[in-house]
Amino acid sequence: YDLRNEDLKDMQELGQGNGGSVKKVEHAPTGTIMAKKARILYGMSKFLSVVLIDAKPSVRKQILRELHIMHECNSRYIVSFYGAYLADPNICICMEYMNKGSLDGIYKKIGAIDIDIVGQVALAVLEGLTYLYDFHRIIHRDIKPSNMLCNSNGEIKICDFGVSGELINSIADTFVGTSTYMSPERIQGAQYTVKSDVWSLGISLIELALGRFPFAESESDDSDLSDLEGTLSPARPGSMGSIAALSLAPRQKPPKSATAKKDKRKSKGVSLQGGGMTMSILELLQHIVNESAPKLTPEGRFPKAAENFVDSCLLKDPDARKTPKELLNYPWIEQAKTSTIDVEAWANTF
Ligand code: ADP
Ligand code: MG
Repeated sequence: YDLRNEDLKDMQELGQGNGGSVKKVEHAPTGTIMAKKARILYGMSKFLSVVLIDAKPSVRKQILRELHIMHECNSRYIVSFYGAYLADPNICICMEYMNKGSLDGIYKKIGAIDIDIVGQVALAVLEGLTYLYDFHRIIHRDIKPSNMLCNSNGEIKICDFGVSGELINSIADTFVGTSTYMSPERIQGAQYTVKSDVWSLGISLIELALGRFPFAESESDDSDLSDLEGTLSPARPGSMGSIAALSLAPRQKPPKSATAKKDKRKSKGVSLQGGGMTMSILELLQHIVNESAPKLTPEGRFPKAAENFVDSCLLKDPDARKTPKELLNYPWIEQAKTSTIDVEAWANTF
């Protein structure tokens, strides 16, 4: 596809993410339906309460070059890539449209997802991660239910992986939005590895099986969150998110204009499951580092093999945690491989 912005006709808004939107579009010359993700490139962090568009053409060209390898990512577990282009001030990434949307949207609509379907999700994500790493040495970096997509053929695929280092650098990631799936070692600033994705998978699977985020959110308090958001600098590979760095960041409120929209979407306190205690993001990160990992609860509600698998994903020591490839041989995943469950039939019930 030779993609041009004027050839893509907007059909429907699919969702809002950090700093941009995803739309269902039709590529007029070919009639192909696509999902178009537009992201504004930030040249500076909101740390300085400034949002500047990075004008450097060299950076933009480099991003497009890096995105190019997505053309070579061909797997039934990875959302296909049609192409990317710059449409000032956005970078637009066009990908396969998945007509049943993301798994977070699905469970929010239909409630907790049947554990056998969750097993198929685990299998698909592990296959996708193993493919990305074995064939392209790509680490996903943003595993969460909203990056797991489903279509009415019953296919489950992952999207939004960190293929471009420059793009990761350039997009002012609102840390707060995704931080809650972060592994303890990543919060502490250690090197990101494939095992960090495994932690995020474990958290995501619990969320799908319980129908709620394991560190439950509450509507009660937004002050801590919005304060913190203004102080965080964008994600940088390898250097983001140590608690020490966070604590040292000056608490300074950004101007309303820069964050008004985002505040609306995320103005939620975060509270511990069941406890009713409201935590700031900083407290949540400390909790992930210091407390024991969440589990598939209550005990006995889910198959033992599923409990064991999730426990393996959520080993706090990354050295003890397995890689996606190793986890493909776990009993629960072996069962998922030979399961007769009909994901297509399931996907057509909503
Ligand atoms: P996030 O993943 O943080 O929610 P995104 O901007 O990546 O933010 O995506 C916003 C929403 O758009 C997702 O939650 C998902 O529901 C929807 N979406 C993204 N990509 C696709 C796609 N290829 N097909 C269908 N829906 C998509
Ligand atoms: Mg996404």
